[in-house]
Amino acid sequence: MAAAPDMGTTNDKRTLVVAGGGIAGLTAALALCREGFRIIVLERAPSRRSEGAGIQLTPNAFRVLDGLGLGKMLRGAASFPEHIALHNASSGAELNRFELGKTIRKRHGAPYAVIHRADLAALLAGQCASLEDIEIRYDEQVLDAAVHANGVTVLSQSGTTAREINATGLIVADGVWSSLADIIPDRAKPEFSGQIAWRATALNEGTIPNGIEANNTHLWMAPNSHLVTYGMRMGREINLVAVTQWADKAEPKRGQMIPLTDRAAFNQHFANWNAPVAEYLTSDKLNWTGWPLFAAEKPRALSHGPVVLIGDAAHAMLPFAAQGGAQAIEDAAVLAKCCGAKTGDLAGAFAQYGQERMERVSKVMATARKNRRIYHLPQPLSFARNFVLRHTPQERLQKRVDWIYRWKLEGESSSKECISE
Ligand SMILES: Cc1cc2nc3c(=O)[nH]c(=O)nc-3n(C[C@H](O)[C@H](O)[C@H](O)COP(=O)(O)OP(=O)(O)OC[C@H]3O[C@@H](n4cnc5c(N)ncnc54)[C@H](O)[C@@H]3O)c2cc1C
Repeated sequence: MAAAPDMGTTNDKRTLVVAGGGIAGLTAALALCREGFRIIVLERAPSRRSEGAGIQLTPNAFRVLDGLGLGKMLRGAASFPEHIALHNASSGAELNRFELGKTIRKRHGAPYAVIHRADLAALLAGQCASLEDIEIRYDEQVLDAAVHANGVTVLSQSGTTAREINATGLIVADGVWSSLADIIPDRAKPEFSGQIAWRATALNEGTIPNGIEANNTHLWMAPNSHLVTYGMRMGREINLVAVTQWADKAEPKRGQMIPLTDRAAFNQHFANWNAPVAEYLTSDKLNWTGWPLFAAEKPRALSHGPVVLIGDAAHAMLPFAAQGGAQAIEDAAVLAKCCGAKTGDLAGAFAQYGQERMERVSKVMATARKNRRIYHLPQPLSFARNFVLRHTPQERLQKRVDWIYRWKLEGESSSKECISE
């Protein structure tokens, strides 16, 4: 299989290749296009994602997407829960509420949204497709890249055809299982956390138990497990994520989703949960898929010359702060800002991006680990947690996450248009 040089990229515009067309890659394409770059996104999947589960978009992420011109469409496609109800999973009792809706909009100037991942992918890809300077190539896997004095040569494969693309820089956005991140010496490698997230979506029909509402988010906490539910698509669908301990001695294989084969073992995780929710989770109405959770402790090197890491490839984190996607979106905004400010010095811009992201992302990752401990506390510590939660005033709950949600790009300007030929 001989590699054919890709002649399509030889123009005088600064061309960046983005490896991976997930949330990180597509947001980066949009943000960098605004700074005058020509972007080629290479995505190994044969087409845009049309299945999957939901994702919560916290105000820090929503604000960036708004700035990229997606706000109106997002407001049409997403749902906006009024609050997150925090429950003791065994009694079912509501311990407290974290107000979203107007409270969050007023506090942070942007909403807290939930959306089906396929709908978010459609919005991001649609926006990219409307810009001449962004090209998304599906069914094209990046195999490797070579750094040289003029930038980087990216080797990719589509079917049996191999290609070489010469670019000014490479943005590695190929997710938690990144094979390309190893181009960067001393990058953070994710390790297995000992937990698995079971995901399911369900139509919002009569079978949903009282206590799981489509217009609100619910968090149910139990020793060694928890459940998050929220409605999507105007309340027509419910998204469920149940996190439990991984029971096998052998670690799960990297990069593989796990079908639910042992129902009895799965059901055991919810044996002490309140009956309506436990019966629903263990009924055969739900089609669960397991996602073993791998995470790094903190980001390490994020760039090396003209190659840079963003999203899960840079800092795979536990999902307990609902921030992996949000941090990927922030990465894209900061990367574009640095590249726009340091024209002609891409390696310098990538290095600056790395410096600017390190502290914040490390702190968010530590918060996700802390939330895991709190959500999964064993008895009797869980009694103390529940007592404290019941008596924590709303203002204090909000203050704990203000630092995450109020994030803004410094000197943010959303007026730049993508420059197309
Ligand atoms: C259970 C769970 C719940 C979560 N909930 C939330 C939440 O509510 N809010 C939130 O912000 N985050 C959440 N996250 C985290 C979030 O899903 C991820 O952080 C986010 O999807 C990362 O985006 P990404 O673009 O970096 O990676 P991905 O979404 O994995 O995208 C990587 C892309 O690269 C492609 N690719 C891979 N290798 C190659 C290659 N060699 N060449 C070309 N293409 C390639 C893949 O096909 C894929 O499309 C959750 C995660 C989990 C596990």
